[in-house]
Amino acid sequence: MRVGRVLAAGAAAGVAAHAVPLLTTRESLRRRYWPGLAGLGRPDHVALTFDDGPDPATTPFFLDELDRLGVKATFFMLGINADAHRTIAAEVAAAGHEIAAHSYHHRSQLFSPPGRVRDDILRGIHTVAEATGQMPRWFRPPFGTLSNAGFLAVRRFGLRTVLWSAWGKDWTPEATPESVLAELDRDLGPGVTVLLHDSDCASAPGSWKAAHGALAGLVDRVAAAGLKLGPLADHGIAA
Ligand SMILES: [Zn+2]
Repeated sequence: MRVGRVLAAGAAAGVAAHAVPLLTTRESLRRRYWPGLAGLGRPDHVALTFDDGPDPATTPFFLDELDRLGVKATFFMLGINADAHRTIAAEVAAAGHEIAAHSYHHRSQLFSPPGRVRDDILRGIHTVAEATGQMPRWFRPPFGTLSNAGFLAVRRFGLRTVLWSAWGKDWTPEATPESVLAELDRDLGPGVTVLLHDSDCASAPGSWKAAHGALAGLVDRVAAAGLKLGPLADHGIAA
């Protein structure tokens, strides 16, 4: 019933017909109906993921901090950034982190024709694979907005679409390490996937510092809950 209303609202708003899974932008619905899409995995594990890099101005700070904390994560890279910054893209992979794809350009699928969505996804996957030497298993669409064409294309290319189940709202100009942790606290728990950003290329300038500054606190919280923090590869998301 509720799902029907959401879909009807999307149609009424004049959203393109191929952009049906609008309800995926509603976190509660996503968790309930698509646990894999929401990144819900093993109950003893929390997945740590970063979007929008690689960025030579910011990603190295994340690599250093993750190394200091002894944590591996999954980096959803933009093809355009991996193309421009191949050295840092390769460094992320060489540090033992998992590489995933976040499209080539950072465009919403909802406002692009299906052919362009498919091309951008494929170009992003190829570029990231080439720059890192790692074939991505996971795809996350920019802004978390999915179209049918995009969802099906990702599946056809052999990847799985994964969004998130907890975020730090680290992209806003007001974000601080404390605000990121407070936001994460709302949803942090067994089996969740955490979304942060290792680049501010699509966010408020300087906002990466809020995510970076929150990492040690996140590690403490996850450990205090008796959970393990790691990449999606270890998260055991059901098929
Ligand atoms: Zn993004």
